[in-house]
Amino acid sequence: MKVDALRRVNCFSALTALTMSYKLFIPGPIAVSEKTLRAMAQPMIGHRSTDFVALYNSIQPDLQALASTKDPVYISTSSAWGVMEGALRNVTQKKVLNCMNGAFSDKWNDVALRCGKPATALKFDWGQPIDPEAIRRELATGAYDSITLIHNETSCGCMSDLPAIMAVLREFPDVISIVDTVSSFSGMPIKKDELGIDILITGSQKALALPPGLSLISASKRALDRAAKSPERGYYFDLIEFQKNHENGMTPSTPVIPLIYALKSKLEDIKAEGYETRYARHARLNKTVRDFIFSKGFTLFPKEGYGSVTLNCFANTQNIDLGALNKILKSKHKLVIDGGYGKLKGKTFRISNMGDETDETIASLIKSLDAALAETPKAVAV
Ligand SMILES: *Cc1c(COP(=O)(O)O)cnc(C)c1O
Repeated sequence: MKVDALRRVNCFSALTALTMSYKLFIPGPIAVSEKTLRAMAQPMIGHRSTDFVALYNSIQPDLQALASTKDPVYISTSSAWGVMEGALRNVTQKKVLNCMNGAFSDKWNDVALRCGKPATALKFDWGQPIDPEAIRRELATGAYDSITLIHNETSCGCMSDLPAIMAVLREFPDVISIVDTVSSFSGMPIKKDELGIDILITGSQKALALPPGLSLISASKRALDRAAKSPERGYYFDLIEFQKNHENGMTPSTPVIPLIYALKSKLEDIKAEGYETRYARHARLNKTVRDFIFSKGFTLFPKEGYGSVTLNCFANTQNIDLGALNKILKSKHKLVIDGGYGKLKGKTFRISNMGDETDETIASLIKSLDAALAETPKAVAV
């Protein structure tokens, strides 16, 4: 027993050493705590066993509390894209309106078309928030039965005004709302039921600070009623299957049990910290990073007033070589930030403050950034 325990500790030291060779400040995946990693290393249980049912049922109340919903929160063994695609196959029969203001929301339109769904692209420039009035005009045509939107566009650090958007969507009860909160969930309050969100989606490797591979999806009764009438919803992401299994404290197929252990551990952390304290911590650390980078002469990329609270996307207004900056950060300071997503590569940089960051870890990040920026060359014109 003792030897076994020792071996396990040794294995973890090696694991930690490996992962601690540098720390991720990219907006997902993000750093995972040792406590969470340890939580994953528990003995396997059968996914139809009473132990699993107890595990599943024990985390439901905390998941529902975090999402401010009375609806079940289903656990999917997939990255967020699984349920983002699955949601469309469950509820879109007539036409979906895809709100697009960054890489992930742009892709959602592509995914809808690949699923053979009639879809309209409601486009805004990257970094501009979704305009609720534009949604109202489009939905008023009566052409749609569903809408997708991303609360916090991680690719450009733009957070749209979810309450304002949902106020418009509540005027259209036949339109099922599918809301991606992948990089905002647990970093700020998201009141699913109060806002009237039909389908709420999030993933594990963003603000929840878990490894990737698990996603959460919570659906309203309206959404389930729609799904029940959708013949092409498939199996793996079928909301009706999720609901049936949920009633027995299970998932449709064998889930990623280690990540569910990790989720349980994280939900305990979140409860111990307190929701409001957690939200305040995210807002405070976000501002700390922002103020420091502003002091170096950079500006925020998204429209003023619509910056994310879980990450910052800065415009490279000082025209520095972001590749060189990241090399210095990685080799000398053992950390990594993001040098711009897709077409914004080199033009913007993103720094995550989501998950388990503290005043201390962010102070240390800033110290490193300060030193690294001082020796970062300007970008060479191409
Ligand atoms: C990361 C992210 C996704 C995609 O998540 P995967 O886990 O890669 O499927 C979707 N939406 C947003 C807003 C994200 O930040």
